[in-house]
Amino acid sequence: MLIGAHVSAAGGSNKAVARAEEIGAECFQIFASSPRMWSAKPITDAIAEKYASEMKRTMMGPTVLHGKYLVSLGAEDPELLAKSEYALQTDIAASNKLGALGVIFHPASHRGRGFETIVDQFASSVRKILDNEPGDSLLMLETSAGSGDHIGSTFAELGTLIKAIGNDRVAVCLDTQHVWAAGYNIATADTLNAVMEEFDKKIGLDLLRSVHANDSMRELGSSVDRHENIGDGLIGTAGFQTLMAHPAFKRVPFYLEVPGTGKSGPDKPNIDRLKAIRSQVFDG
Ligand SMILES: [Zn+2]
Ligand SMILES: [Zn+2]
Repeated sequence: MLIGAHVSAAGGSNKAVARAEEIGAECFQIFASSPRMWSAKPITDAIAEKYASEMKRTMMGPTVLHGKYLVSLGAEDPELLAKSEYALQTDIAASNKLGALGVIFHPASHRGRGFETIVDQFASSVRKILDNEPGDSLLMLETSAGSGDHIGSTFAELGTLIKAIGNDRVAVCLDTQHVWAAGYNIATADTLNAVMEEFDKKIGLDLLRSVHANDSMRELGSSVDRHENIGDGLIGTAGFQTLMAHPAFKRVPFYLEVPGTGKSGPDKPNIDRLKAIRSQVFDG
């Protein structure tokens, strides 16, 4: 189980590696391009080469790219849908070029149309993206906190989408804060066992390929997406101990997306907290 964090890729993806190293991360997540703008520049050969040598120097674990917040595969507007498909396709191309594990994206909203209405459209969009960008990179659907009309706050919805897509390059990123907000109690052993049994039944544990490790500012089932530093929230140190001890997470990389102790994003203190929990779990 590797412990990493979201870091800035300002100045090029190669620059992210030293930032991850500096805070003690063993793997990292970056935005392949600006998450709040549609524009994206392809990764140049020069950047990809520098990135590869930095990865080799630091022996960093698997990198994941986070997709744009604008992406909406459940959109009714054909222009928004086309832009979303193109953005994800560009991110998959970047992931392939860097040899990253894949791209994590938000299933976003069905915008009041109802989940059942968007399943076919969503699935055919994902198939198109993956067909247009062959390679090893995964496309990972992120669990959502469940506010408004958001898709993917239940394992059943994610499982339905993944079955409809029918492509083995599709997987899941479990965000600990989002599933907590969606009402899945991952913080105590009994309830966590039931939650992961449900995940296995509806999605399949083999499709759990990355974790966003975030504590929660808000209560179980609140549907509110508010990340807290590890141990300072309602999942708590004991909750993360329980989670990390569960066999489902043993080979899955963890990526922090927490506010930071000094408000400067995922930082070394949070990495150290998770590492301390990991050593308690695995070294007794
Ligand atoms: Zn996300
Ligand atoms: Zn979140």
